Amino acid sequence: MTDYRRLRVALLGAGAVGSQVARLLLEHGEELADRAGASLELAGIAVRDLDAPRDVDLPRELFTTDPEPLIVGSDIVIELMGGIEPARSLILHAINSGADVVTANKALLATHGPEIFDAADQVGASVYYEAAVAGAIPIIRPLRDSLAGDRVHRIMGIVNGTTNYILDRMDAEGAEFEDVLAQAQALGYAEADPTADIEGYDAAQKAAILASLAFHTAVPLEAVHREGIVGIDKAMMDAARHAGYVVKLLAVCERMSVDSETSPTGEAISVRVYPALVPRSHPLASVHGANNAVFVQAEAAGDLMFYGAGAGGVQTASAVLGDIVSAARRHIAGGVGVGESTRANLPVVPIGEVRTRYQITLEVEDLPGVLATTAGILSDGRVSIATVEQNILSEAAGRGADQEAGVARLVIGTHTAREQDLSETVTRLAESGAVERVVSVLRVEGN
Ligand code: NAP
Repeated sequence: MTDYRRLRVALLGAGAVGSQVARLLLEHGEELADRAGASLELAGIAVRDLDAPRDVDLPRELFTTDPEPLIVGSDIVIELMGGIEPARSLILHAINSGADVVTANKALLATHGPEIFDAADQVGASVYYEAAVAGAIPIIRPLRDSLAGDRVHRIMGIVNGTTNYILDRMDAEGAEFEDVLAQAQALGYAEADPTADIEGYDAAQKAAILASLAFHTAVPLEAVHREGIVGIDKAMMDAARHAGYVVKLLAVCERMSVDSETSPTGEAISVRVYPALVPRSHPLASVHGANNAVFVQAEAAGDLMFYGAGAGGVQTASAVLGDIVSAARRHIAGGVGVGESTRANLPVVPIGEVRTRYQITLEVEDLPGVLATTAGILSDGRVSIATVEQNILSEAAGRGADQEAGVARLVIGTHTAREQDLSETVTRLAESGAVERVVSVLRVEGN
């Protein structure tokens, strides 16, 4: 066996991911040493409760409830506790003690990324976080390294497995949101408190991280427009299917041309999370169950798609182990850390400036002239119609002066329109006598 230099590795957290990382480090030690060029010695595992049940049998003597002494003197610190504190302080402590850091903590990076990357820069340390977005799927390194010489135009990601599972079941079974959510909770795909997933908070954190990397710009979480999937119902799913679409919760990160007042370079970005209609022919439409996928469009590379398990203890551990090997190689080779490139510093435009296509579903009185009135309101609002489909929901009733008009459903597909124009137009439609009810307004992504 080769006599490698020993690197001391500290693990913070032994939950779903951490316990698998510890197992793989212990089981595959020799193989990992050959790949890393260093022997990775698991010095200890910090947890909250020494007696908590674990997914994996691990030597009890490795466990401690005191992370600080474990960090001091470690070459690599792996943070898999989650949450903001104490994760943030412990990572900063690790960096300042000379360690490289591996983390899967998207919540922390999306809110305190610049602070952590700056601290690492100051001392020449590296922070690796492949597992923070889309679990096992390699997407951080492709964006940071492989595509560093290209210009990314657009990313569309299905980055939250829980919501994809819910929407996929609704689509496949024609089921209602609440029923599928309850089913997902029973199967462990959704948390008892599903807010972070179904309201889009988790996807927004990942969108901020992806956009920061893709556009070399520090994107604060507050700049990410966020809508969840709570308003999506069976009728919307049925209508989407009928029109050749599927509803997906998307994280969209996009480079845009803007006027020189908005950005001196004439470029800005938009980062947004919302449920959108995706054509069934688009690769993202075939992402089923709790899987994740990230679709990247770059100037030279063209279209790329990264697909796989977005969560799961052992799957996510794969990405963490990859980072540990990279950290070990760098630690052995020396030199400055990998660093983050945020110099492009592009402004993030508000959602009102975003341009996309829409599908508007209205219930209108089935009377002559209603279609013309509706078309007139859209045209006045600078929203151009691409397609219209009309279905009669109820026939006219009664006779003569007492006759009640029937109700028709109008499904209007628009050409690309500015979000602000669209939302003002929809308000005018809702207020017009011709429209009884705005049933839904959904963006269309992925032409
Ligand atoms: P988890 O199952 O909740 O485990 C958290 C671990 O951290 C537990 O071992 C816990 O100790 C320990 N811990 C928490 N607070 C602590 C504290 N104050 N001091 C010491 N130990 C503490 O979490 P997880 O699912 O493994 O996730 C870990 C990280 O990976 C998170 O940032 C998460 O967002 C990310 N991630 C997870 C997945 C996934 O599929 N699970 C996928 C991608 C990314 P006890 O065991 O004693 O309670």
